[in-house]
Amino acid sequence: MNNSLSARDQQVNWHPYTQMQTAPPPIGIMRGEGAVLYAEDGREYIDAVSSWWVNIHGHAHPHIAERVSQQLKTLEHVIFAGFTHAPAVELSERLLALLPQNQAKVFYTDNGSTAVEVALKMALQYWYNQGVPRTKIIAFEGSYHGDTFGAMSVSERSIFTRPFQQYLFDVEFLPVPVPGHEEQTIAQLEKLLQQDDMAAFIFEPLVLGTAGMVMYSPEVLDKLMALCRSKGVLVIADEVMTGFGRTGKRFACDHVSQQPDLMCFSKGITGGTMALGVTTASQAIYVSFLSDDKTKALFHGHSYTANPVACAAALASLDLVEKNAFLEDLERISTSHAAFAQSLSGKSGIKQIRQTGTILAIEFEVGHTTYFHSLRDQLYNLALENGVLLRPLGNIVYVLPPYCISAAQLERVYGVIEQMRLLV
Ligand code: PLP
Repeated sequence: MNNSLSARDQQVNWHPYTQMQTAPPPIGIMRGEGAVLYAEDGREYIDAVSSWWVNIHGHAHPHIAERVSQQLKTLEHVIFAGFTHAPAVELSERLLALLPQNQAKVFYTDNGSTAVEVALKMALQYWYNQGVPRTKIIAFEGSYHGDTFGAMSVSERSIFTRPFQQYLFDVEFLPVPVPGHEEQTIAQLEKLLQQDDMAAFIFEPLVLGTAGMVMYSPEVLDKLMALCRSKGVLVIADEVMTGFGRTGKRFACDHVSQQPDLMCFSKGITGGTMALGVTTASQAIYVSFLSDDKTKALFHGHSYTANPVACAAALASLDLVEKNAFLEDLERISTSHAAFAQSLSGKSGIKQIRQTGTILAIEFEVGHTTYFHSLRDQLYNLALENGVLLRPLGNIVYVLPPYCISAAQLERVYGVIEQMRLLV
């Protein structure tokens, strides 16, 4: 009898984003170290996507492991209503010190989707509490903000959301201001802002991840934010993917001069060790919930809100994020990506190459394609056969590595992309 992890898994587990009838058996992973995952069959994989964009410092980082282990022995959990604890207080203090100056308060949840839910609820209740009926949210076409209902509502309506379409609330979608289309987006936003029921604008700053690493400039983002703020429309920066170094600076919002009213974080916040989501808010948002009337409070919370072990993991990750070496790694990877992009430019099979900081995306020229196109699986398998974990989005392959990835490992990843180019 096959007693492998992979075989046992198939008896009991149901995996995300997976057609369980046709998907190949999952790969059993026994351990991870740095940028490498070690499988039960002895194979090794370079994790070029930081395992769903979370492991920013690589796997099983000793500093994070040590801090988490200490916290487990001190305080593993305590209810966060009516109680607090040192890891949550310290994490909020240190996080706020790194964020745009207007960010004043931290609200904890468990993942990126709930960080977004909370931001949406805060934005809508901000208006509600003041007796002003602003109810509409603006978002980008193609955006992805998570899988819970509010997050789905502000995301691209797609095959992912189709069964739930009737339950999603109406949103005003703007085209992404990719190069050459900035004026169109600005004009559409100006038009929308003439209506007086616009509550908030939510966006993935600079890079729309799930859309296929679609990128736009900080200059146009600054303009869109300024336009919203001039009309009092709240600005929500979803930094779930871009936070903690991805765009070459600590946060994507460090590239712009406007400050968001609300920010969402998760993924990289704990370096991929523990599930944690964070929504931060400006003082004005926070103040709109203060009242002698208890019903004006934010009625949202989760059992594991501000879990001390998750906060400790985030503190250990911040120790690394705050170091100069962190910024040097971002620079090193960005420079390496740029050189590879340069070497590819003009070659056959390539439609577009995009880069923002440590994120490199290569869009292959294959005519019309979708997520379910067979090419996607061919590219995915080709990478795995070569010992590299890359998860193409349709005909777009992207590299989003842990920042500890070595030059030699990056070269192997680029080598696989070269092979992909020859395959398409
Ligand atoms: N927001 C953005 C920009 C994301 O990329 C994601 C996940 O990919 C989410 C929100 C949802 O985060 P989670 O998967 O932790 O729920």
